[in-house]
Amino acid sequence: MYIIMNDQKAVLPEAFQEKMRGLLGSEYEAFAAGYEKERQYGLRRNLLKGPEEEFIKAMPFPLEKISWAREGYYYDAACRPGRHVLHEAGAYYIQEPSAMAVVEALSPEPGERILDLCAAPGGKSTQIAGRMQGRGLLVANEVVGERARVLSQNVERMGVANCVVCSEKPERMAALFPAFFDRVLVDAPCSGEGMFRKDAASAGEWSPGTVEMCAKRQALILDEADRMIKPGGVLIYSTCTFSPEENEGTISAFLRNHEEYDIEETAFELSLIHI
Ligand code: SAM
Repeated sequence: MYIIMNDQKAVLPEAFQEKMRGLLGSEYEAFAAGYEKERQYGLRRNLLKGPEEEFIKAMPFPLEKISWAREGYYYDAACRPGRHVLHEAGAYYIQEPSAMAVVEALSPEPGERILDLCAAPGGKSTQIAGRMQGRGLLVANEVVGERARVLSQNVERMGVANCVVCSEKPERMAALFPAFFDRVLVDAPCSGEGMFRKDAASAGEWSPGTVEMCAKRQALILDEADRMIKPGGVLIYSTCTFSPEENEGTISAFLRNHEEYDIEETAFELSLIHI
């Protein structure tokens, strides 16, 4: 099967297709047909830059509200919002609509201490910052130095004043911030199966071995995240992949080793509550 995106042509790996067939059964054909459909594009209003009415009035192209993301809108790809001066001024952040669901689930509040442990390029950190309204502390960490630089640029562009950007390994962060945060987001490095249409090259990098390697790394990251959460705090785990090894498998293994957590259902994701 081919995915065609912005003139790029990628092939869905055979082993991935087989795996999804096994997982989805009779729903597989509908899943595969999704790759042929047009993509939807989203941007997110910066809650730090004034009220919605002013934003809508200033925007030079039409937007359609995303019903389930407070500050999210669909736009037409032809509008090229990345080229507009309001983008440079931090009025909005271009973000996949589905990615906005994660911070909806995290529910950050002004005044809290929040950690985004795998934060670059900063889509979720800057969304969290908007919800915090400049009150409390946001720590945005990205282990890869070059990506941490891009994260800093986005935090700056979006006018966030209560955020510290770090570039540390999770274990070092855990040593620095024991039982410190009210909420921790682990938007984990993953095999990226959900990105195949947006980024055709990622399909070429996928293999069953990558899935296995990512699951092991996710377990290590979650154990460090646990060390940084206050009793009563919330841990959100998210990926952009379908593989059960990296989603249900990672969460189940974590819960087996951490009886002090409960799962809480939210509209989009599962939150882990430290009890
Ligand atoms: N949260 C980001 C956003 O919304 O813009 C996306 C994060 S991306 C899915 C996962 C990030 O984890 C990548 O930036 C990657 O460099 C980082 N990462 C890779 N290996 C890691 C590790 N061992 N520990 C922590 N983070 C890691």
